[in-house]
Amino acid sequence: MNILVSGGAGYIGSHTCVSLLEEGHQVIVVDNLSNSKYEVIDRINKITNRNVIFYKADLTEKDLIDVIFSKHAIDAVIHFAGLKSVGESVEKPLKYYHNNIVSTLNLVRVCQNYGVNKFVFSSSATVYGNNQVPSVETLNLLPTTNPYGETKAMSERILKDISSANPELSVSILRYFNPVGAHTSGLIGEVPNGIPNNLMPYMTQVAKGKIEKLKVFGNDYLTSDGTGVRDYIHVMDLAEGHVAALNSLTKGVHIYNLGTGRGTSVLELIEAFEKANSIKLSYEIVERRAGDLAESYAETSKAFEELGWVAKRDIVDMCKDAWRFEKNNLE
Ligand code: NAD
Ligand code: UDP
Repeated sequence: MNILVSGGAGYIGSHTCVSLLEEGHQVIVVDNLSNSKYEVIDRINKITNRNVIFYKADLTEKDLIDVIFSKHAIDAVIHFAGLKSVGESVEKPLKYYHNNIVSTLNLVRVCQNYGVNKFVFSSSATVYGNNQVPSVETLNLLPTTNPYGETKAMSERILKDISSANPELSVSILRYFNPVGAHTSGLIGEVPNGIPNNLMPYMTQVAKGKIEKLKVFGNDYLTSDGTGVRDYIHVMDLAEGHVAALNSLTKGVHIYNLGTGRGTSVLELIEAFEKANSIKLSYEIVERRAGDLAESYAETSKAFEELGWVAKRDIVDMCKDAWRFEKNNLE
């Protein structure tokens, strides 16, 4: 198939491009490079020995997207493009609502014009808010604590309404838990903009000596060791989850959690990283971070039963691959 991948130069998109190319698909990436570099496209090509078709374009500009669809017979869209920093979204809500919502609207509108009925959307476990765990797809969504989360919940809603009005549409909404790790080649991975917000890239930068010490945000949660628990998932498992979702698309809107179903605490992740890479990480316990949940992990049976997909890589793989990429990353 000809798959248009929006945000394909980014962290999750680039790994998914690798999986798609390895499955024999033709990949057309549209990315404005606001949070990525063109070099990533070269690296995807190098890993797969294939060639991605690349357009530097902003999805908020509908006419540009229109031109791209007119040039290629697109069979399906995987929509990753979006801004993703929770903290920045609180400071700049307009920027987030505009970028994330207008991009989704433009893309579905152009899909409609060109009769493209297959659509896969990047959502997030954040839409569950402070709900019961494990998170199961049938839960009623609670308001999230930030505009970023709201853009995901709204985009889901938009896709559901559009699908109700157009029964020909097949939409898969994928709610990611905590993607970490990198491709085993060490050529592509996560490159945070400035000081990382997320735990794993923070840990790899401490390991590299870019940052002196890791701050553990709170050890008084009601969890096994008091630190926050998350469902970390290897980014290549996530990438393969997209291929499975694409292969299983059926009419209507279908929502799947992509996680491992296992929770890991901050201290457990630090210990696993130290062991996997024979490195000591210096850290201190500090105050809780505002808005953090005690724990979050996925109920994964729906993805297994309907997509035949299950995460295969473990925490050791995630820690080794994340560190290999950080070592290779010259920035
Ligand atoms: P990323 O920032 O690495 O990739 C997103 C890509 O989209 C970037 O390359 C960026 O340049 C591009 N982009 C942003 N706005 C654009 C626009 N208007 N037009 C064209 N390109 C645009 O992020 P990621 O971690 O790969 O995340 C991909 C998707 O998954 C995002 O929608 C994100 O919200 C979602 N998600 C990510 C996580 C995570 O922890 N990484 C968790 C849950 C959901
Ligand atoms: N965390 C931490 N120090 C950091 C970054 C994160 O202790 O520098 C904790 C955070 O409180 C949470 C877990 O690590 O319990 C995962 O945080 P991350 O930001 O990676 O993911 P999210 O909270 O968005 O699920």
